[in-house]
Amino acid sequence: MDVSLTRNFCIIAHVDHGKTTLSDRLLEHTRTVTQRVLTAQHLDAMDLERERGITIKSHPVMMVYNAQDGHAYKLNLMDTPGHVDFSYEVSRSLAACEGALLLIDAAQGVEAQTVANAHLAFAQGLKVIPVINKIDLPSADLDMCTTQLEDILMIPAEDAILASGKSGIGIVDILEAVVKQVPPPRWHNHPHTRALVFDSIYDAYRGVIAHARVFSGSLKAGTQLQLMSTNTKSDIKEVGIFTPKMTKVPELAAGDVGYIVSTIKDTAEIKTGDTITTAIRPATEMLPGYKEVRPMVFCGIYPLESSDYEKLKAALGRLRLNDAAFVYQSESSLALGFGFRCGFLGLLHMEIIQERVRREHDVEIISTYPSVVYHVYQHGKDMLQVDNPVMLPDPGTIDEIREPTIQAAIHIPNTSMGDIMSLVMEKRGTIDNTDTLDATRVMLTCTLPLNEILVDFNDRLKSITRGYGSMDYELGEYKAGDLVKMEILINGEPVDAFSSIVHREKAPGKGKDLCEKLADIIPPQMFKVAVQAAVGGNIVARDNVRVMRKDVTAKCYGGDISRKRKLLDKQKEGKKKMKQIGRVSIPPDAFIQVLKN
Ligand code: GDP
Repeated sequence: MDVSLTRNFCIIAHVDHGKTTLSDRLLEHTRTVTQRVLTAQHLDAMDLERERGITIKSHPVMMVYNAQDGHAYKLNLMDTPGHVDFSYEVSRSLAACEGALLLIDAAQGVEAQTVANAHLAFAQGLKVIPVINKIDLPSADLDMCTTQLEDILMIPAEDAILASGKSGIGIVDILEAVVKQVPPPRWHNHPHTRALVFDSIYDAYRGVIAHARVFSGSLKAGTQLQLMSTNTKSDIKEVGIFTPKMTKVPELAAGDVGYIVSTIKDTAEIKTGDTITTAIRPATEMLPGYKEVRPMVFCGIYPLESSDYEKLKAALGRLRLNDAAFVYQSESSLALGFGFRCGFLGLLHMEIIQERVRREHDVEIISTYPSVVYHVYQHGKDMLQVDNPVMLPDPGTIDEIREPTIQAAIHIPNTSMGDIMSLVMEKRGTIDNTDTLDATRVMLTCTLPLNEILVDFNDRLKSITRGYGSMDYELGEYKAGDLVKMEILINGEPVDAFSSIVHREKAPGKGKDLCEKLADIIPPQMFKVAVQAAVGGNIVARDNVRVMRKDVTAKCYGGDISRKRKLLDKQKEGKKKMKQIGRVSIPPDAFIQVLKN
């Protein structure tokens, strides 16, 4: 097929604006899949994605569209993950396209993710076609949408296509716009073979299956490919396209989007954003935009039952095969036993992995507080990266600790402005800009420490704005902060699972919360036990565990010695299941209860 008759595009949208529904309509209209297959496919989708209304990973699909100009076009619809944690993956999917449909819910208007995605698309030089969707809704507000398009995104409103994925309005207009407005595949005249890897999945039988967009040249089974970031070579066993099921083809040529099966067995070897070339006559210059992605958020994951350790290890290993962005290594904790230190792209990524361990691998786990990666500067030494508070060196040796910050765009109703500004201040953020979106909405641009948004920022944003607020962010610089390690001591013994790195001013408040919670959860003890929060030897908060009213042996004082021994033995047995912190026995679920909230 002539490359001028190929169009590669994607749909970008805020969650729930109707991307899935509209994609299905396009597939149906081009008879790529029937309604029956679509329903079946939906039932297959990962539970977690459906519940959270996000797409984590999904296939591209090739459609053939008979356009009004009499030509049959090959349209590749790429999917983009729907969450900020995966913004690098989004940028690579966009880089594999020449155009994007920018979907806006007619009743909701432009939201934070719409803006963030639109900017990513502009940055990739894509032709952006605005689509106002769900116009069948009685609450559709076209004036609001067109004004926002012009004011916020600088897109001329007359370009917008009015559509409804539900009732099928505008589907032909969209397909015609893709054919007429999206440019044909770029860079196809480059003298060497270059293909962009935008995803890869692991198959137990076939190894790693790379999803790639070929820009120039071609890839065929029986030849050798070369990955340009590492110069790794591998034999190509099969190439194919998604129709949407994987369908073997003799070759992938310039402009094509498809999959490549090679002899590579580890997903970590084929990185998203890498360029595939041929081993014979390789290209010398990679496609632009390759970046090593690094995990930003870390936490410890431990089996609830220590006998599940091997099962947990196997589960993490399997998840890792499919997700090169997830990393882990073994660690142990005094309080929680043997487990793993795990790294994630962001909080959502962390929650997804934890949920999958529980649901798909059936292992009950407990995780420690999430931590970001701190840069620690010590006199005369190399910078140290610390993702586990326990590893922070002696404070006396530290010159400076820097923490990662984010640039956030927060879209909120005017009426919530005061409360959101207080929230940003409370989280040590600064408001750099306030833009009016329309008569009822504003956008705040803020700088915030990443650490501060890890736990409850999004939940509080949603609750203050009654669900009408939305946020998107990108990583900013590392900035120095007055950061300290806070330890929790039970009866004078530090408990590693509760150590955290906090801003000095926040230590007393956070320490108090933790001490109260722990003192409440630890069962009454025979003697007075203090729970303390300490920063560099200073106690910043404390509480006491309740003292047991009666000594179990008190009654037998001077009495029957065998009865006394019996009672003590019984107590000892009970203790076996407990975690021993110095002289204090703590039921393991106390840790869980405290770490849970
Ligand atoms: P996604 O999160 O962007 O993939 O959105 P979905 O396609 O899953 O749609 C989100 C919700 O909006 C679902 O409840 C859909 O039934 C509904 N929806 C999608 N498109 C339309 C539309 O054109 N009109 C109306 N009224 N509802 C729609």
